[in-house]
Amino acid sequence: MAIHEIRRFGDPVLRKVSRPVPRVNNAVREILDDMLETMRNAAGAGLAAPQIGISKRLVVLDIGEGPVFLVNPEIVSRSDETQTGVEGCLSLPGYIGEVERPLRVSVRALDRDGHSVWIDSEGYLARVLCHEIDHLDGILYTDRASTISEVKKGEAEESQDEEGEGREVRAVFMGSPEFAVPSLDELVSAGVKVELVVTQPDRPFGRKQEIRSTPVKARATELGIPVLSCERVSDPDVVKKILDVKPDFVIVVAFGQKLPKEILSVPEMGCLNLHPSLLPKYRGGNPIQRAVMNGDEVTGVSIIHMSERMDAGDIALQREVAIGPNETFGTLERRLASLGAHALVEVVYLMTLGKTPRTPQDESRVSFAPHLSKGEEVIDWTRPALQIHNLVRGLSPRPGAVTYMDGKRIKIWQTRVHSGPSKGSYAPGAIIGVEGESILVQCGDSPIAVTEVQPEGRSIMSAAAFLIGLRSETRAFGGRVET
Ligand code: ZN
Repeated sequence: MAIHEIRRFGDPVLRKVSRPVPRVNNAVREILDDMLETMRNAAGAGLAAPQIGISKRLVVLDIGEGPVFLVNPEIVSRSDETQTGVEGCLSLPGYIGEVERPLRVSVRALDRDGHSVWIDSEGYLARVLCHEIDHLDGILYTDRASTISEVKKGEAEESQDEEGEGREVRAVFMGSPEFAVPSLDELVSAGVKVELVVTQPDRPFGRKQEIRSTPVKARATELGIPVLSCERVSDPDVVKKILDVKPDFVIVVAFGQKLPKEILSVPEMGCLNLHPSLLPKYRGGNPIQRAVMNGDEVTGVSIIHMSERMDAGDIALQREVAIGPNETFGTLERRLASLGAHALVEVVYLMTLGKTPRTPQDESRVSFAPHLSKGEEVIDWTRPALQIHNLVRGLSPRPGAVTYMDGKRIKIWQTRVHSGPSKGSYAPGAIIGVEGESILVQCGDSPIAVTEVQPEGRSIMSAAAFLIGLRSETRAFGGRVET
């Protein structure tokens, strides 16, 4: 794969109508892979082949749900209902515009393997599809925009005129874990000047208790942004350092501390928080894990205006995503980090245009997502198979669902819901058969297929291999031995 130069506004290739692709062969797949890498490198959500100088009807996009490759995409229906929102384009960096698009579009295309695909899209995905398919017809969003504004001052004219048009948007970013890194990256590549990053202090990590900095600190250092590590953001000297920057925005992603009043009360400053749930559902520190553990089919991200109460501020923007039936906490977390980063940038854009979307949360529908409590990771085999499956994927990749056999601790990393009832009557936890790499374990209602396990002190293995290696006569999980 290779990163290509992205053609800029004014390049004639962006104005040509691209040719259909007659056959999806390796050469086409190579272009698609290069497009994906180029798009990711530029932190974009979509890219059309003309943007790398190739006049072919090829599109890649990733709005946080994994890459989508489209060959010869065609909009076959569009809703009369429209949405107006903000768009940018990798071929016109530093500018954004408001564009009216259909709320829903259906697209027919071929995928990377040459198979037909059909996409029914709504909202943001519909917008990205329209934008990219327009590129194939030589149309740029600026042709359709009702307003266009500069978000970043060109490098050449970076002068002292603070009041001038196109003044830089300055931000303080506060965050700590891996989840917050895409947001920092997106803000920087969208042209927001992040003047200061505030993060948790370095802490000992793992068995060797090595001192490690937070992922956000590591990334900020790479980007050359000053970092302030602090135990308490409400300390007067920390507050002073933040206010000294005179930020337009304070942006908080997985920081885990409330903002002090002195910061929240600066009226010309926006204090935004990315929360990975559809608020008011799942306020609190563990929304992604709880959504998977509860077997939710839909979740999303909320960008809120911060208030003194944790996670209770007005909503600026929400985006929904479906949770797959076998999706884990880990994969969902990565998708929401990317989706949330794009949503955050969109709100910053909107607010720099003087538009501040704000909807109060419905206090009657508030729910909470607490951190795991001790013992919650232990599987109770008398529960229904689906609940056990949701627990296992909700605790993967951390901390892992736990069961016991002969007093030994075993982590269950992967399960599949098994269709069909058990034959005969078995006690919950009994291993009742083998199916390929899986073993079937009786739950409260029906069996579950356990596919990956990890006995204490050993590495992850297939459940079938584990069963073969068993020395004991026991053929059942369960029984908490430790406390
Ligand atoms: Zn574009």
